[in-house]
Formats: sequence, C-alpha cells, structure tokens
Amino acid sequence: MRIDFHVHTTRGSSDSNLDPLLMIDQAHAIGLEGICITEHDNAWTDPEIEEYARDRGVTLFLGIEVTTEWGHVGAFGLDRYVGGIYKVKELRRIIDEVDGFLIANHPFRYKLDPRFQFIHKTTPIDQANPVSGSQALEVLEYVDAIEVVNGACSEEENRYAQAVAEHVGCKRIGGSDSHSASSIGCAVTIFERPLSTTRELIDELKAGRYSTGQGLNTGELRVFP
Ligand SMILES: [Zn+2]
Ligand SMILES: [Zn+2]
Repeated sequence: MRIDFHVHTTRGSSDSNLDPLLMIDQAHAIGLEGICITEHDNAWTDPEIEEYARDRGVTLFLGIEVTTEWGHVGAFGLDRYVGGIYKVKELRRIIDEVDGFLIANHPFRYKLDPRFQFIHKTTPIDQANPVSGSQALEVLEYVDAIEVVNGACSEEENRYAQAVAEHVGCKRIGGSDSHSASSIGCAVTIFERPLSTTRELIDELKAGRYSTGQGLNTGELRVFP
C-alpha cells in the first residue's frame, strides 16, 4: 500500500492551495492508495470527505505537522493540537501516552547550504560525514523515524537524511509535503500490507514493515530500502 505521508490542504494549512477533494482525485489518478493529512499544528476529519476518498480507493490517515523548537515533527496518534507540544520533550511525553509515533520531518532542509547556515546558528554540517548531521540534530533523540524523502527538499538534503538515518539505525519515511496537487505522490512510504485506520498505520510504523519511494506522480516509482 503506497501512502503519501505528508500533505497540507486548504482546510487546515493557510499556506496550502490544495483542495481536499482535488487531492483525492489526484491520488486516485496516479494510483496512490493512502494519504496522511498532516496540517500545520492542527487536525481535522470529515466523514463525507473520507467516504469520497474510500469510493475512489484512497484511505485517509490523520497526522499533525507540529512546529517545534527543533523544527517540524510529524506526529501520529493525536486527533487535535495539544498545548505545550512546541517543546519536543513534551510532545514525546504526550505521544507516548497515546502510543503514537514521531517523525523528524525534512531535518536537513536549508541546513547543508553554507549560505543559510547563519539562520540555524549551528556548527556547519559536513555532508561527507553522517555523524556530523546526527550530532547536529537534537530532535533525533526523541523521534521514531526520519523523513528521508521529502518532495520539497533538494536531492542532497534527502540523500544526506538517508545517510544519517542509516548511521543512527532509524526508521525511514517518505512524503511529498504537497501544498498543491501536482506533487502528490512524488514521495511515498510503501507498506507490505493494506491499512485502513490511523491506529493500524501507527502499529505498522512501529513494526517497521515498509520502504520509501519516489516518482509515483510521474508514473516512474523508484523504491529504495
Ligand atoms: Zn515542514
Ligand atoms: Zn509540511
């Protein structure tokens, strides 16, 4: 089951121009079987939209992309924003209470380019060495997985995230980070079995039976472990 793990819609993200129904039509058109709706700092469900999706062979799952002190973290297991989760340690505590799952989203976006280094005020990352990146990411200690394929990141940023995930032995996720229809499915996570609820999805995330892929939106899906 191919699932795009990272999508923003007009219903919950002010920076998105992706209508939820258009999102479902596009998923159906390219053969994407699941979408995680991951709005910025909020969550919604709508039985009518879920049914519209189901009728087209698309299952919707619920996550939140939480803005934290250490960057964006994909959180699964919450159905609404909870105060205090801006702090990653608090987010981890609350996610543990609901037996959820956390993903470090696009961890190296803009962090490899020396021109942007002044924003992050961190020691420069050595692209040839994954140890350097793992040490630079405080959030790594608190997440279950790294988003290693993000549709809005550069190839270098994604490749480096993969190298770091390999180095620390972390699970790997792919998601498009779509804010419009054309990029849906450009990055996916591929599960061995079909899943129908967010709870099942979380359990399978913990079990680790999946791989990541790129290019479903253009009909050229490439899968890598
Ligand atoms: Zn983000
Ligand atoms: Zn995002």
